[in-house]
Amino acid sequence: MAPNLSKVDRKRFLDVIHRLKKENPPVFPLKIRTLSKDKFKGYYGLMQFFDGKKPYFLITLRQSDYDIMFDSLIHEYAHLLCYSFQQHHAEDTVLWHDASWGATYARLYSSLTGESNPAKCSA
Ligand SMILES: [Zn+2]
Repeated sequence: MAPNLSKVDRKRFLDVIHRLKKENPPVFPLKIRTLSKDKFKGYYGLMQFFDGKKPYFLITLRQSDYDIMFDSLIHEYAHLLCYSFQQHHAEDTVLWHDASWGATYARLYSSLTGESNPAKCSA
């Protein structure tokens, strides 16, 4: 898992995975793999669902520096948590990043980083 990361960052990364799964258990088993840039072109992350006798989620991440992999993992984990709502729109990439996905991403991100902004955005 993530041979590109330093020993310290690899431990931090595994801790994030552990916390994500513990605090937001996936409804099916989750496999996570990392691939080198050469083997995983065009994406930083991808979440897939494999149906069958033993359904599972697969998150693939490009081996990058810790911060990119952290962001990509949370991005894809938010897809996983929203999957049941979005699977029927899988062909429409706009819906993959709809408001429910965005709220889920923000919740995961602030939970893991301890960041919270008491002032609301004024968009
Ligand atoms: Zn996405």
